[in-house]
Amino acid sequence: MFSDLMKGKRGVIMGVANEASIAWSISKQLIDQGATLAFTYPNEAIQTRLISLANTFQPDAQIVKCDVLKEDDVPKAFATISDHWGAGVDFVLHSIAFSDKSQLSGRYSETTRENFINTMIISCFSFTEVCREASKIMPDGGSILSLSYLGANRVVPNYNTMGVAKAALESSVRYLAADLGVQKIRVNAISAGAVRTAASSGIGDFHCIMSWNKNNSPLRRNVEAHELGMAGLYMLSDLSSAVTGEIHYVDCGCNIIAMKATSQQPD
Ligand code: NAD
Repeated sequence: MFSDLMKGKRGVIMGVANEASIAWSISKQLIDQGATLAFTYPNEAIQTRLISLANTFQPDAQIVKCDVLKEDDVPKAFATISDHWGAGVDFVLHSIAFSDKSQLSGRYSETTRENFINTMIISCFSFTEVCREASKIMPDGGSILSLSYLGANRVVPNYNTMGVAKAALESSVRYLAADLGVQKIRVNAISAGAVRTAASSGIGDFHCIMSWNKNNSPLRRNVEAHELGMAGLYMLSDLSSAVTGEIHYVDCGCNIIAMKATSQQPD
């Protein structure tokens, strides 16, 4: 379809935990198009998996520690990456979220102060911090992308505090796009349809979300990981050069539906 779209471009990928990660699907598309990637990880268990995954495509990939809950990790990680390359970066993917599994079921009103704060820092504030630090090493402008979900604007059972964090994340995308536009840095999010990953498996009754989408989305199916990969490539490349501050749904149209398909209604 395209070739060498990302040739000569360097980017930072945050959020590959394993082969099922949305960040990995996007990474594969970027690598196919000639990008050079650096990856971040929050802990040693993920570091080990990431090294073997990244090496299959890019043996010399930089792999740098960054637990976004720790106050200094984000600035340190971006400084380390640009020092190592001796150059700036062209794009950043933020594909990070966390909420305590015990609170991804039941009532939102029962969320604890501790879980609320951690969920907001990891899933929302970290994006603001990433944009601030990345913008210092993007002298030629570029593209920064995060991942959101429909639970930001509608109630999805069990999504709870994560939905509140995604709403704040989506608002952050708009404010950050306005701040960084003068530096020719674009800031967007993809609102992804449900796909089975380590993070999504922690959401109560996740299989019900998958089957509701399959039965009721306009395309009558769930989104596939490689389709999120292609959408990520669009957002991080010059294909979307006039797009910023946007929440782009890649969900087989699920977000437009307000009522069950009539073929699914009980008699
Ligand atoms: P995943 O589990 O593969 O990725 C989540 C990532 O967050 C992991 O790599 C994990 O290491 C990272 N992370 C968690 N805490 C961290 C911390 N303190 N510091 C740094 N990194 C940390 O799952 P995924 O589904 O690929 O999730 C990626 C993004 O996509 C998330 O923002 C998620 O909310 C979003 N999303 C997922 C779906 C879905 O159905 N899977 C749908 C819409 C949006």
